[in-house]
Amino acid sequence: MSEVKKAAVIGAGFGGLALAIRLQSAGIETKLFEKRDMPGGRAYVYKKDGFTFDAGPTVITDPSALEELFALTGRKLSDYVELINVDPFYRLCWEDGYTFDYCSDEERLYKQIEEKNPEDLEGYKRFYEFSEKVFEEGYVKLGAVPFLNFWSMIRVAPQLTQLQSFRSVYGRLSDFIKDPQLRQAFSFHTLLVGGDPFKTSSIYALIHALERKWGVWFPRGGTGALVSGLARFFTDLGGEIYLNAPVAELTTKDGLIDEVVLEDGRRERFDAVASNADIVHTYDKLLGKDARGASMGRSLKGKRFSNSLFVAYFGLKKKHDHLAHHSILFGPRYRELISEIFSGPDLPDDFSLYLHMPTKTDPALAPEGCSAFYALAPVPNLEKAKIDWSVEGPKYRDRIFDYLEKRYIPGLREDLVTSHIFTPADFETELNAHAGSAFSIEPILTQSAYFRTHNRDDKIPNLYFAGAGTHPGAGVPGVVGSAKATAGLMLEDLAPALKVAE
Ligand SMILES: Cc1cc2nc3c(=O)[nH]c(=O)nc-3n(C[C@H](O)[C@H](O)[C@H](O)COP(=O)(O)OP(=O)(O)OC[C@H]3O[C@@H](n4cnc5c(N)ncnc54)[C@H](O)[C@@H]3O)c2cc1C
Repeated sequence: MSEVKKAAVIGAGFGGLALAIRLQSAGIETKLFEKRDMPGGRAYVYKKDGFTFDAGPTVITDPSALEELFALTGRKLSDYVELINVDPFYRLCWEDGYTFDYCSDEERLYKQIEEKNPEDLEGYKRFYEFSEKVFEEGYVKLGAVPFLNFWSMIRVAPQLTQLQSFRSVYGRLSDFIKDPQLRQAFSFHTLLVGGDPFKTSSIYALIHALERKWGVWFPRGGTGALVSGLARFFTDLGGEIYLNAPVAELTTKDGLIDEVVLEDGRRERFDAVASNADIVHTYDKLLGKDARGASMGRSLKGKRFSNSLFVAYFGLKKKHDHLAHHSILFGPRYRELISEIFSGPDLPDDFSLYLHMPTKTDPALAPEGCSAFYALAPVPNLEKAKIDWSVEGPKYRDRIFDYLEKRYIPGLREDLVTSHIFTPADFETELNAHAGSAFSIEPILTQSAYFRTHNRDDKIPNLYFAGAGTHPGAGVPGVVGSAKATAGLMLEDLAPALKVAE
């Protein structure tokens, strides 16, 4: 009998959990090391004064990518967590009072577009066809495929060129839709994965088709319940999770990763090591003593990193049934605001917000009669704007509360039971995120696919990566896809006799 192979995964974000599940399902003895006291990474959970706040992802799309993990060993996602359909996907609100329910019902969608600008209905239908084509090429065919060499990029170049992927989402959308608010309604999605709609490749228009195909979901108990379900599933398979276990160093020997060294001094040898932690942190800090780590760290720091986020979590002692579960609250500016968010040099005076009210779908996330919220504002990362968030954070929260109270949530201050903030500085210290970026490397064409961090290092053959910094990129479906690409490589290397389960 051949000896059982051992793998370590560093970081228990969605990418790390999905990778660890795939490895353990294939019989690789897998240990997952997580710095914080709970798994989830960006999908951490705060419990405060009877309220449950999901820290990060709340719009769960493509549940089939998650189902696939359970199916590897003949189980079902529903054995671990219940997903609830959310419709409308988002309610989009502008300061002039116009609202648009971005929903699954095609007739309702058409009706709203026609009412806004009759000429745009035909344009929208053509945009949707385009979105379906890029979804097929960019997500179905390439979303979980590793790009390890330049030829892999050259092979897909004709399709990418034909789909005009060199143009931006907003630019391509503008060929189809004329109304300025409808253009915002169908282009803001790239912001959910750290992309500027005016610069991100039009391939990312695939998000629209992805949402319409599979819908938008929310786990009962919050995204945290999905994370706990994945973690429990991994340990049920025999995998081991170590919490409060920050990795301090990866040592090398004979051109391979030799040991994983924890901050508390524990060290262990593995056949293969995969990092789900930030890519700059992994190369520059964990592997910084090795020439490869130092040079990759330097080169990655030269890339453009995505924006950061400011998030205010708050609980109110009243219900607000007039609000949708997910609302996008557009501020007075769009293009100019986005440009300042991605380029700095200061915190813009205005903002656009994503308002999350999970108690609309699952009232159990707050005490009886109360409601839980978070308000998220995209803001420049720490490289683009030098802001002292320990000073600005509370002031920014107050500005957001004032805005919400005036326009959307009357009585917010009086009803406030609890609140908590998470700033770009917290992304850097809590999550080891380079420049406090919320989504790692910015998803522009010259930093995508082959030009992103490779799922297997080019020089150290037993070092792998999964998560937002690798192909295909940020977002829950993205990092779960990256884990599939990485698991395919690891299983080929560790257990060539095993075929990766589709
Ligand atoms: C506020 C917010 C809202 C979002 N909303 C959505 C949404 O609605 N839908 C969606 O699809 N996506 C959303 N995203 C994006 C999505 O959450 C992320 O792209 C995705 O979760 C990142 O997963 P990851 O696998 O890259 O790992 P991460 O979540 O980044 O986790 C990495 C883990 O590595 C750990 N780590 C770091 N260093 C070490 C070390 N030295 N040793 C051990 N562990 C270490 C960290 O503690 C962390 O747990 C959102 C992101 C944010 C921040």
